[in-house]
Amino acid sequence: MAVQKNKVSKSRRNKRRAHDSLTPANPNECPDCGELKRPHHVCASCGHYNDMEVVALADEIDLDEDAA
Ligand SMILES: [Zn+2]
Repeated sequence: MAVQKNKVSKSRRNKRRAHDSLTPANPNECPDCGELKRPHHVCASCGHYNDMEVVALADEIDLDEDAA
């Protein structure tokens, strides 16, 4: 078992942990569907970016199209 050489004081431990906090996400509302989305990212629920559909969603693609 590794044994520490010196005791880490509460002050030193807490100073180390002072930078460990997480920052909250900052979601924007999608202008197309109103769903919350990450800023500067394609909307995950409708595939729009900058009022254009840039990603087709999997459930909108007809997979049987080529089979006919
Ligand atoms: Zn959307």
